[in-house]
Amino acid sequence: MNRLNGKIALITGGASGIGLASAQRLIEEGAFVFIVGRRQDVLDSATSTLGHNAQGLQADVTKSENLDRVFETVQKEKGHLDILVANAGVGEFARLGQITPEHYDDIFDINVKGTLFTVQKALPLMQNGGSIILTGSTVGSMGTPAMSVYSASKAAVRNLARSWAHDLRGTGIRVNVMSPGPTQTDKVMALLPAEAVGEMKRAIPLERLGDPRETAAVVAFLASDDSRFMTGSEVFVDGGYAQV
Ligand code: NAD
Repeated sequence: MNRLNGKIALITGGASGIGLASAQRLIEEGAFVFIVGRRQDVLDSATSTLGHNAQGLQADVTKSENLDRVFETVQKEKGHLDILVANAGVGEFARLGQITPEHYDDIFDINVKGTLFTVQKALPLMQNGGSIILTGSTVGSMGTPAMSVYSASKAAVRNLARSWAHDLRGTGIRVNVMSPGPTQTDKVMALLPAEAVGEMKRAIPLERLGDPRETAAVVAFLASDDSRFMTGSEVFVDGGYAQV
């Protein structure tokens, strides 16, 4: 498919997992993709996998001046942005009673503040037809033991999209949330004990974890004109986990 021919995209957290698979898919569909991540060595290895239609930009999404540098580079190199995937995110466990201010700050700074200012600083580069995709999570709509802070951060991301759909009236720019269920990325497999993975599989109607290529397919749909009448929506890619 060539739905994204000539489009310029930027994906935060694009050097691994769901972000990297999304970069791969957008490139397959014709886009040029900037991937943003904190570690230069990880970015270098991802861009060498992705090929000449990808460029790595080192930045921490919680740092305003880093984001300014990223969008100045995009402006200089390509002049505008058609697709923005605000995907960088972190999750950690902490049960109520053990939540520290650092745990809260880490998660909300990256997942909420990082998402907010990534989008706000990208906006001047976007135009009519632009598509913004935020990575949410099934946990934003569920209660999950020892995951309240992460879950609340993803509920916040979901509401940012609802409210921004209003704020973007008249611009022709759409904003939607792609919410994965448990998805087989290195990060998640390292975080979850095997027994928790088994329990999740039993709770998922399709009886398996997601593959990052499956979330990437939905990102490509939301990025493309096939979803042109969608804004403020949340699309779950979760094997039915949060739907039943
Ligand atoms: P991942 O760790 O591979 O991806 C997260 C990426 O964000 C990494 O590349 C990381 O370096 C980057 N990142 C983190 N903090 C950053 C910062 N301050 N600045 C710039 N980049 C930063 O894990 P993943 O599973 O691919 O997760 C991607 C997104 O999907 C996250 O938002 C996560 O919350 C969400 N998600 C994942 C799952 C899952 O099961 N894998 C489920 C629901 C939602």
